[in-house]
Amino acid sequence: MSLTQAIKQQAQKLGFELVGVAPVGPVPELNFYKKWIEDGHAGEMTYLQRNAEKKLDIKLVVPEAKSVLVCGKIYHTDKPLSVACGDVTRGWISRYGWGDDYHDILTKKLFDLVDFLKSETGEQTLGRVYTDTGPIIDRVYAKYAGIGWYGKNTCIINQEKGSWFFLGEIITNLELEYDEPAPDRCGSCQRCIDACPTDALLEPYLLDARRCISYLTIELKGAIPESMRDGIGNHIYGCDICQDVCPWNKKAEQTTEAYFMPRQGLFNPDLTEVGSWTMEDFRLYLRRNPIKRTKFRGLMRNVAVAMGNSGKQLFLPVLRQMAKSDEPLITEHAVWAINKIEITNR
Ligand code: SF4
Ligand code: SF4
Repeated sequence: MSLTQAIKQQAQKLGFELVGVAPVGPVPELNFYKKWIEDGHAGEMTYLQRNAEKKLDIKLVVPEAKSVLVCGKIYHTDKPLSVACGDVTRGWISRYGWGDDYHDILTKKLFDLVDFLKSETGEQTLGRVYTDTGPIIDRVYAKYAGIGWYGKNTCIINQEKGSWFFLGEIITNLELEYDEPAPDRCGSCQRCIDACPTDALLEPYLLDARRCISYLTIELKGAIPESMRDGIGNHIYGCDICQDVCPWNKKAEQTTEAYFMPRQGLFNPDLTEVGSWTMEDFRLYLRRNPIKRTKFRGLMRNVAVAMGNSGKQLFLPVLRQMAKSDEPLITEHAVWAINKIEITNR
């Protein structure tokens, strides 16, 4: 068995359902990434700008880099898709946010794999671990490692396993056997573009993050532009729609890992319940969970928008409580939601 085969076998033993290897080198997509940022499509995600040059050239970070080992970990469960859950009194949390924080899980597994690399080849082997350090670059290397193709919805899609998986990478100085890039199988389909409620997919393969619900509910720290609030619907953390409608996810593989199963109260949660959380509840329920990235004020901002979009008067008492918050961000969105519900019911 070759070294590459042994590494792949070990990755699978560690629980990665997908594994591939890409060579380090210039690829045309990296220029697309640069232009995407220059055109402003990244919105406030300034951390992407700060490290753009390094992302464009891995050798600036790891001069000896020769290969990128890309690993995928499935998080899909048997729970229904968001498009099948139409109750507007309940919020939607993106599937990846239901369980334990994937950064912790993938990072641990990747470091275990680095240990294996070193034990097989010697301590001089480099193994730089990355988990979700940028939305585009991971996907570029995933494509070249044969994990899947870059879909029109900008997700990496695997022909057999769909797109519900996390990506992690190891950059190494080892020369390995490289996989072939996965061919694009989107064909004439454009269901994701048609289904996006905020028209964030400007054209095939081109996402304007500033219009994307995932960006608006997670990455954006301040007020959500009023023009974008209606399109957010009942989403309170992320959005799954462009993956829900993708035909390659019809038979997507599901995980049995307990740490990715939905925690109580996070699958399609009752908006009144979440809107009534205190800061202590937020810390307790979301310990080691990715949703805490929004911070308490961000999540409450999103809950207020979802309540307003429902048009349901039953939310008025909790919204009036939220409007008394010391946090201006929560107050402003709660007042907006109260007005919206009152106008809807006039
Ligand atoms: S995540 Fe939602 S808002 Fe963003 S592109 Fe996909 S469907 Fe549109
Ligand atoms: S919905 Fe269709 S166009 Fe969009 S990513 Fe899936 S296969 Fe490609």
